[in-house]
Amino acid sequence: MTSQRPLPADDFSIYYVLAECTDPPDAPALAELRASPPRRQGVTGLRNLGNTCYMNAILQCLCSVSPLVEYFVSGKYITALQRDCREVATAFAYVMTDMWLGDSECVSPEVFRSALGSLYPAFMKKTQQDAQEFLIYVLNELHEALKKYHRKRSHEKGSVLRCCRKVIASESSIITQLFEGQLNYSIMCLKCENCTYKNEVFTVLSLPIPSEYECSLQDCLQCFFQQDTLTWNNQIHCSFCETKQETAVRASISKAPKIIIFHLKRFDILGTMKRKLRTDIHYPLTNLDLTPYICPVFRKHPKYNLCAVVNHFGDLDGGHYTAFCKNSVTQAWYSFDDTRVSEIPDTSVQTATAYLLFYSCQPFSIPIKKCKS
Ligand SMILES: [Zn+2]
Repeated sequence: MTSQRPLPADDFSIYYVLAECTDPPDAPALAELRASPPRRQGVTGLRNLGNTCYMNAILQCLCSVSPLVEYFVSGKYITALQRDCREVATAFAYVMTDMWLGDSECVSPEVFRSALGSLYPAFMKKTQQDAQEFLIYVLNELHEALKKYHRKRSHEKGSVLRCCRKVIASESSIITQLFEGQLNYSIMCLKCENCTYKNEVFTVLSLPIPSEYECSLQDCLQCFFQQDTLTWNNQIHCSFCETKQETAVRASISKAPKIIIFHLKRFDILGTMKRKLRTDIHYPLTNLDLTPYICPVFRKHPKYNLCAVVNHFGDLDGGHYTAFCKNSVTQAWYSFDDTRVSEIPDTSVQTATAYLLFYSCQPFSIPIKKCKS
C-alpha cells in the first residue's frame, strides 16, 4: 500500500534524469545528448497496476539475471516454446525486452500480468500477494512452457557416494538449468542406525530465522541444514525395525544451482497468530560460502555473489515490495520502487527489510548490447 511506502533516503538516492527526446534534436541538443550517459540497459521502472509491487519486484530481480534475459531477449526461447502454453513465456519475453532494450524510462507489465492472471486469477485482483509465491508461479510457468524431455540416463559411471547419487531430471528448461538445485536428506533410525536417503529438487530455499533481533545469513543456513531429531508424533517408520522410531534427519545440497534463491521466513505462524519477524539479517554481497552444506563431490562452485534482493516493508497482509538489483553492464546497484529507480551504493544493499536473496555462483556477462540506430 502506498501509505506504507518508505521515503527514499536523500543521502544516497541519485535519481536518473533520462534524456527522452520526442522532437528531432537540433545540433547543440544532439551534442548534449551524445555527451550525456546513454540509457542504462535493464535500468527501467515498472508501473504499478494496483498493488502489483510484488510482481514488479520479482520482474526486476529476474531482469537482473543476465543469462535469463539473454535467453528471452535474443529470441532463443522461441524454439523451445511448447505449443499449448505460450502466453506467459511470450509475455515474459516482451516485458524483459522492453526493460532491457526499450527506450522508455518506465514499462507497464500489463500484458504479462494478464497472461499469468488468466491461469491464476489471484494475480488479477488488486490485492497484495506474496512475492515468493508469485516467483514460484512464474518460474513454474516458464519451465512448463519451455521444458524439453530427455531420456533418463542410467546411473552415472564410477562410484558416486550413495548419499549423493544423482537423480537425473527427465525434463529441463532454462529455468531448471539456472535455478534448480537438489537437496539430499539422510534419514537415520536412531534405534538400528539404518540410513535411508531421499532427494528433493528446489528452486527457492525457505530459511528459518533463528533470532528475533539480529543474525547472519549463515546462522539461517546452519539452522536449515542442522540435524533434526524427529520424536513423538513425528517419528518415521523404519523398514528394518518395522515400527515407527525416533529418526535423525539432515539435509545437504546434492546439486547446487547456478543461481540460488533464499526466502527468509519472516512470516511466522505461532498457533493461530501470524507475525512478521523484523530480524536484521546480515548477508554478504560477495563470497557467500556454501561449502559446509554441499555434498563434497558436488562442490564445484561453492562461492556465491549477491545479484538481487526483494525487500518487504510493512505488515503481513499489506506492505510494500521493492527490489535492489546489480546491473551487469554498469556493475552498480539500483533500487527499484515501481516507477522510481535510483542508483545506490553497495553499502545500502544490506537492510533489515530483505525478504528474498538471489545469489549467483558465476559473474554475469552482458546479455545483449543495444544497437545504436
Ligand atoms: Zn530402525
